Amino acid sequence: ELNTIENKEKEKKPLLEHKTVHIEVKRDPKVQVARLKLPILGEEQRIMELVNENEFLIVAGETGSGKTTQLPQFLYEAGYAEHKMIAVTEPRRVATVAMAARVGHELALSSKEVSYLMRFEGNVTKDTKIKFMTDGVLLKEIQSDFLLSKYSVVIIDEAHERSVYTDILLGLLSRIVPLRRKRGNPLRLIIMSATLRIEDFTENTRLFKEPPPVIKIDSRQYPVTIHFNKHTYSDYLKEAFRKTVKIHTRLPEGGILIFVTGQQEVKYLVRKLKASFPYRKDVDYSKLITKTKPINEADAALDSEPDDIDSDDDEVEKEMKRAKKARRKAKQKIKTLPKINLDDYDMPDDDGQADLVDNDDESEGHLSDSDAEEDTLTPTIKSCRQPLWVLPLYSMLSSSKQAKVFAPPPVGARLCVVSTDVAETSLTIPAIKYVVDSGKKKMRVYDHVTGASAWRIVWTSQASAGQRAGRAGRVGAGHAYRLYSSAVFQHDCPPHHPPDLCRRPVDDLVLAMKCMGIDKVVNFPFPTAPDRMQLRLAEKRLETLGILEKPEVKKKKVDDDDMLKVTPLGKAVSAFPLLPRYGKMLALSHQQNLLSYTIALVSALTVPEVMSGKPDSWPATGHTLLLGDPGVLLRAVGAAEYAYVKGEEELFCAKYGIREKAIKEIRKLRKQLTSEINLSVAGVDVTIDPEMKPPNDNQARLLRQLVLSGLGDQVGRKIGLDEVKEGEDKRKFKYAYHCGELEEPVHLHSESILRKTIPEWVVYQELYETGAEERRKMVMRNVTAIEPEWLPVYVPQLCNLGEPLSDPEPRYDEKSGRVKCHFKGTFGKSGWELP
Ligand code: ADP
Ligand code: MG
Repeated sequence: ELNTIENKEKEKKPLLEHKTVHIEVKRDPKVQVARLKLPILGEEQRIMELVNENEFLIVAGETGSGKTTQLPQFLYEAGYAEHKMIAVTEPRRVATVAMAARVGHELALSSKEVSYLMRFEGNVTKDTKIKFMTDGVLLKEIQSDFLLSKYSVVIIDEAHERSVYTDILLGLLSRIVPLRRKRGNPLRLIIMSATLRIEDFTENTRLFKEPPPVIKIDSRQYPVTIHFNKHTYSDYLKEAFRKTVKIHTRLPEGGILIFVTGQQEVKYLVRKLKASFPYRKDVDYSKLITKTKPINEADAALDSEPDDIDSDDDEVEKEMKRAKKARRKAKQKIKTLPKINLDDYDMPDDDGQADLVDNDDESEGHLSDSDAEEDTLTPTIKSCRQPLWVLPLYSMLSSSKQAKVFAPPPVGARLCVVSTDVAETSLTIPAIKYVVDSGKKKMRVYDHVTGASAWRIVWTSQASAGQRAGRAGRVGAGHAYRLYSSAVFQHDCPPHHPPDLCRRPVDDLVLAMKCMGIDKVVNFPFPTAPDRMQLRLAEKRLETLGILEKPEVKKKKVDDDDMLKVTPLGKAVSAFPLLPRYGKMLALSHQQNLLSYTIALVSALTVPEVMSGKPDSWPATGHTLLLGDPGVLLRAVGAAEYAYVKGEEELFCAKYGIREKAIKEIRKLRKQLTSEINLSVAGVDVTIDPEMKPPNDNQARLLRQLVLSGLGDQVGRKIGLDEVKEGEDKRKFKYAYHCGELEEPVHLHSESILRKTIPEWVVYQELYETGAEERRKMVMRNVTAIEPEWLPVYVPQLCNLGEPLSDPEPRYDEKSGRVKCHFKGTFGKSGWELP
């Protein structure tokens, strides 16, 4: 009885207490006015009461309600940054920088106090009070300080995005927070999310035994009318352009926000729209009569009108031809630059990924009247001379360009932002009234068995479509134009996309988790558990690479995969900020004094599409040739660096068909990797050699072995012509290999330098599928030739020594003085003998 009384007593008492201090903030009056309009301000007291008394809290609210910018300020003012820091994690780099700057500005604090930290970049100081960081950075910090003792509160922002790191963080924090309480040093966790699927957090009893309190921020959302297209055109960029022209020429004032899938598409549309409705610095637009009459719902429907393909559209058509011609002309002027393929949209716009076509990056400002092309670009739509103030927005955009979207457009011009899904929930652009939604997004699609991957443009989820449309209703009633039919919405758009974690290889996560002592990765309290198979495959790959191993437990036979532990090599590998296989190359190359080469090599392998043509002009022999495509990359990087020092980089790249932006990206990566490695790996002091000489024959041989050490699970063996089945066309097998457990043949990339030698044994960086339907085939990219006798040394897990294993005889054959070696998997012909 006493117990129950005590329990009841406990129930009444809040779980945590917090002595509220009030920290004075001197805000700019303008900031104060803007803040007061945000719905979250009305909830400050309720939120802070719940924060003070609880260790977990979920704050859900529409995008733009003020969660990210205001909640850290509430905490700061209540004294949470007095002795320890407030941490805010973001899944996107773009938001990490932008939000730190904004919160610093609103609190009138410098970047020394409201700082950000992301991989390779940051401005954190010892005086930092509020620290914005990418979720990956916090995860790394947990590895060295499991209890996160530097922080009083951790805010996981944009939790609905369900990034891999966010999910892992939530799982870990669900355990760390109670531990901190038990030590009398409480840590609070606030999960912030758009109003999407919070049940994944509240109804997941593995994550939280008791569902945490939820605060919903009701935001002033004005009605948004959704207009579906009658037809779904495959060229959604053209359709987006047409729709935007219609909105701009026919409908009243209000910003336009266009959603497309990637950086290139954004740039393409920005260029096109700028050319059609140029903004001239010398024209006074203030006298322009803008359409301010209230919007008429029938007019607003635009494409539902019977004039769907009327003369106006023809005019648009002409408009586009004109813009195209002008573009062509402009392009001819820039002859020195490599080929541009605007129709190739198949590239990521993800953090850390390079863009394919970027050579025609528009200049900072809008077209000025001194531009020669101006006349050709003048719009033919006479009824409207109002310019569009067109701005791009994507995750890799520089922060200064990013900031432009928050500023009002010049007088008389209409704001038009062309964005990737960054503007869906991470950043809120003021004064948007019209949303044009392509309905598409870019997603990385993996094959869990082969690891082959490709960026695919897929339909957004219905939830995303709702979020995108919602952007139009923040200042008043708005309109969202979906460039696809309602049937597509019903049948092709899934309600939600599965979280990232359930869609991608998790090698680095498995390793990171193992390093944190989470051995049973399969049992981890993930918000949504990934495929068990995938976790096991990652464990297996890491075991093959010697990064994980089964511990030798005396007397007890261990055959439980869950028990795989990190090897000393694995520990070393995990210090490198890359996927384990590349970490392994770097770790081993350090021992061979080849670290600076390997850093350059790995950087080059990280940036896609470096070379745009066959590298025929790259003579190589011996080991340098056998180093294969990575060798070509390495020499391209070295030579480009040399040209760069002489100030001839642009010419050099154009001459050799090298993407200049890629070289710049590689240079940046090299620098960042070098400094990061010097910082994070004990005993390493590596510098960048600006005039990196090509590796000599011996170095190239060692580099081949290093590449093998990292890609050892991705071995291919040439399919002999005698192995080709009767009736099959032998010519088709000229460049064909057996790869691991894959049944079908895999081909050398058509631009692989190894097509010159077609070596017997190779390792490859990546497998992917090309071609449509019947012509679909598997291709390997970035291939290096290896010697089979290296396999037992670098990938012993791949070999059965002695053949067959059950053979009771000694594996060493005295007569021939050889050890028989047999490779596991379907490598075609039987064993191979080691001297
Ligand atoms: P949430 O996190 O709930 O989506 P935010 O805190 O990001 O909302 O945004 C609140 C408001 O602050 C929005 O109206 C947004 O436009 C505004 N805002 C954010 N950053 C800036 C900035 N750099 N300049 C001007 N306004 C900004
Ligand atoms: Mg936010």
